[in-house]
Amino acid sequence: MRVFTASLGTETNTFSPLPSGQALFETTYMVRGGAYGENPDLFALPMIVFRDQARALGWEVVESLCTFAVPAGPTTQSVYEAYRDEILDDLRRALPVDAVLLSLHGAMVAEETESCETDLVRRVREVVGPTIPLGVELDLHCHLTPALVALADAIVIFKEYPHVDAADRASELFDIIAGQVEGRLKPRMDVFDCRMIGLYPTVMEPFAGFLREVQAMEGHDGVLSISIAHGFPWGDVSELGTKVLVVSDDADGSALAGLLGRRLRELRDRIEPPWLPLDEALDRAVRAPVGPIVIGDVADNAGGGAPSDATFVLRRLLERGMTDAAVGCFWDPEAVRLAQEAGEGATLRLRLGGKLGPTSGDPLDVVATVRQLGTDVYQHYLGGSRARMGDSAALSVEGIDVIVNAVRCQTFSPDAFTNLGVDPAERRYVVVKSMNHFRAGFDGIASASLYATSPGAMNVDYPGIPYRRVRRPIFPLDDCAATWRD
Ligand SMILES: [Zn+2]
Repeated sequence: MRVFTASLGTETNTFSPLPSGQALFETTYMVRGGAYGENPDLFALPMIVFRDQARALGWEVVESLCTFAVPAGPTTQSVYEAYRDEILDDLRRALPVDAVLLSLHGAMVAEETESCETDLVRRVREVVGPTIPLGVELDLHCHLTPALVALADAIVIFKEYPHVDAADRASELFDIIAGQVEGRLKPRMDVFDCRMIGLYPTVMEPFAGFLREVQAMEGHDGVLSISIAHGFPWGDVSELGTKVLVVSDDADGSALAGLLGRRLRELRDRIEPPWLPLDEALDRAVRAPVGPIVIGDVADNAGGGAPSDATFVLRRLLERGMTDAAVGCFWDPEAVRLAQEAGEGATLRLRLGGKLGPTSGDPLDVVATVRQLGTDVYQHYLGGSRARMGDSAALSVEGIDVIVNAVRCQTFSPDAFTNLGVDPAERRYVVVKSMNHFRAGFDGIASASLYATSPGAMNVDYPGIPYRRVRRPIFPLDDCAATWRD
């Protein structure tokens, strides 16, 4: 048997001013032919699982492109098509193949292609024909299109947010496709569209309990896999929204998908994070008996396409005198370069952040001391992978430790600070530019975690987002309760 694997992804924030071009993919993660090395990216973990499990069965593996761009705005059309065509050329050269396994994201939008995953899988299907088993793994922040479901044999989506289960889901997908290749399984997919927009961390109840119930149903009564596609609220596409996907063995899973989808609707007002206006979050942090209080600067999350140079939170910390604090990571390559030029121990005047437009706020003019410099720094990421921060510096600004970095990157784990000589566990307030992934890395040191909102790029007030393409009606943009009596 011969299996073909490839990975191409980014999470497109269609409202982001930052273009996603070739350099963004090359800077974030790009590997050809399976050379993932010791520290793979999140989207390479499935590729490694596919390879290991295939070889364990004595199968040959042909590995094509594996690339991922840190989320930003729509991908340049020619760049998307070049990567797509590279994968298709590799596939044609690999023929005949007995199976295709793809590690994608599900929310990649190019300038003229609303669902890059659907377009890619359609072309892969054209190359291999209708009968070759084709499996796709997606991030749960995906736009699950009906066309993609029709084209693939099995889709398995991350269950956990933070995404700590990319490898486990890859294994689940491989087993289904291997069963199909060997003639033991006949996967069928059914979807229930909840008609909801939302963001649902899986580390909090009641969503965590719902997920436990879902997982307990797998492996019984012909149910091979159940996925919840959460959707990505900052991707303005027609198929945005929360959907339940059931993969069954030659059975109709539509009733189960509907049952679970209606349960999610009932939970809709209780599964969003407890968002707090910025000053209310800071008030709570001040009142907390012990630190560190970890505050997610959710609106400036690079992992969702935000610039990661917004100054709203740092400005308020300075204005309020909350200086027993560490803040990271500001994407400010120019500040890094100036800090490098000045050297460790130097004090310099800096215009910090606020460079990418109104959602970044105004820049802060500060006097900063360079505490420590780092060359091409990495931080721990999810599920045993790592994420690149690039050249970085720890600055001291009126007593607040500020991490600045040259490669735009969400703040995932404490080593984003400790690699630069700052121990966040010793600070009362720790501000991280992250929506929810910070929980995986920081819960171990946090006395409390707060989700602070601000006027940054990732507005969590969904009715205030200027959607044009999303199909209506949908909760909470529209009053859907009347149509949900099914
Ligand atoms: Zn995600």
